[in-house]
Amino acid sequence: MDVIRTIKVLGRWSLNRMQGKRMPLIAVFSMTHYCNYYCAMCPFGDPDKDAQMRLAMHRDLSTEQWKAIMSKVAPHVIWSIVEGGEPTSRKDILELLEHLKSLSLPVTMITNGSLLHTLDLDRLKQCVDYICLSIDSLKQDSYCKVRGVKPELFNRVMSNIMLLKDHGIKHYINSVITKWNTEEFITHEYFDTARSLGIRTVSMTFVEDRSDVNYSLLPDRHTMVKVCNSILDYMKRHDEPFILIPPLYWEQIIAYGRVLFDECGVWKSIFVNADGTVMAPCWKYKDNVYNLLEHDVDYIWSRKEWDEVKHCKECDVLACIWYSSQSPSVIANGYMRGIRMLLRRHLG
Ligand code: SF4
Ligand code: SF4
Repeated sequence: MDVIRTIKVLGRWSLNRMQGKRMPLIAVFSMTHYCNYYCAMCPFGDPDKDAQMRLAMHRDLSTEQWKAIMSKVAPHVIWSIVEGGEPTSRKDILELLEHLKSLSLPVTMITNGSLLHTLDLDRLKQCVDYICLSIDSLKQDSYCKVRGVKPELFNRVMSNIMLLKDHGIKHYINSVITKWNTEEFITHEYFDTARSLGIRTVSMTFVEDRSDVNYSLLPDRHTMVKVCNSILDYMKRHDEPFILIPPLYWEQIIAYGRVLFDECGVWKSIFVNADGTVMAPCWKYKDNVYNLLEHDVDYIWSRKEWDEVKHCKECDVLACIWYSSQSPSVIANGYMRGIRMLLRRHLG
């Protein structure tokens, strides 16, 4: 990471904050409308893959358009997250990751991991900081149920984890907890299996139910509390695998059945869709759409729609934006927790 650059961007962001101005600090690039998986909790899991492929061919940004948008966003942010649809399904993914690196932007790529063996992993190692593998379950049957795929893909992902290890590419795994995979968190099997695979860091949150379908994948309240208590118990007794989501997240769900936050932190990240659009303040406000091919970040972030975050409490579990919705002291504590973990690893 380019520390000087990061400090400069953080300084400018803090100055804006002191003046009451919201600006993003993290970039999330959703690279394509296509995904080869069928996850029920995700709009990209659409079973009509032909239609999804056609959409991707017509609407996905070209290589040059993505590069232009990445260059426009980079001066504002300290980290970038590349996700999907499935980012590795794009033939130009390595070229785009290299472009982000050329902008001195650290990169985490979130992937289902099923296509990693098709990439030049030595080249990949040079242009990503972390790979986050979405692995909701480490048991073949529940993995296949949650993700809607055949056992061969589970086996392929497991062997691709080994490829990452062999190539020395830093990686961790992430799970979305639904009613289909609670058991392995209650029994700690998920953590034990991760450890046996040499995975040192894991992350997980409960599913945020989609607003565009008429089913819920959230476990019932009683089961959620059992999951939270088991995860807290594991954290107390084990340093590895390190659980990225801190105790407070699980404690809030036990106490209130949902997470707490004063102001939703969705504005701290710029979520760029595969066609270059940004929705203000989030994907649930589909009428407020701006395209980064036409507008710059300052213009989009000065829209009045962002004021909505002051009042909106619609999300119960917030998933990936829980951290950014917490107070500065919680974020600082999380940072210190990460530093302590790194020190423990380095000092043995
Ligand atoms: S693998 Fe990821 S992007 Fe693809 S459908 Fe599942 S959750 Fe969505
Ligand atoms: S709490 Fe509201 S503003 Fe925040 S992500 Fe959820 S719907 Fe969007």
